Amino acid sequence: MTDINYLKTLRTPTAENPLRVLVISCLTGILCGYDGTANGEYPTVLKLLNYHTIKLVKFCPEEYSFGSPREMCDIHGGTGLDVLEGNAKVLSDSGIDWSEGMIKASEKMLEIARTENVELAVMMDVSAACGSQVIYSGNRFAENKVYQIGAGVCAAQLMRSGIKVISQRDYASLEILYSKIDASHVINKEAKDHHEIDWYKNYFNVK
Ligand code: SF4
Repeated sequence: MTDINYLKTLRTPTAENPLRVLVISCLTGILCGYDGTANGEYPTVLKLLNYHTIKLVKFCPEEYSFGSPREMCDIHGGTGLDVLEGNAKVLSDSGIDWSEGMIKASEKMLEIARTENVELAVMMDVSAACGSQVIYSGNRFAENKVYQIGAGVCAAQLMRSGIKVISQRDYASLEILYSKIDASHVINKEAKDHHEIDWYKNYFNVK
């Protein structure tokens, strides 16, 4: 779940001292997706490229460890945190164990986040590496694909180190971020984060 209160406490940046935000590469249009694309366009994140008051630190963990293009992968037997603790595995679609490479990628991501002293990370829900609120449980191409609440391996690595993570679908959080980097931005109070939408509440049977 996102930490709206943390987002509200983010400082007001300037062009000379921009907000330092780690953003995964594909969300900025870099062609690092499994199929060599940028996984589609998310205007809510691309919008961040337009401001001088934010410094975007870009990184794709899967490309770092496995190159692009590559197979897709999912987490089997738990969440990203479970992978980090040795209790679940990341398997590629052909069944190759990618756990070690994914953990190395998560460690590199954390190293970059610390070196750059980032104040927030913006990542991609449902990715085995970058999901922050929702990921698949097992293979996404299974006949009855299953989602679970939880973070991907790299998002979990950042989170357990105290770095706050939001996703491209956390629209309420993004609204607060826009208001920090753009004094003229009027917050859309109707916007919802991923865990607040009907699909999430119905699928996971939460109120
Ligand atoms: S690993 Fe993360 S940054 Fe790389 S393509 Fe997948 S979602 Fe994007």
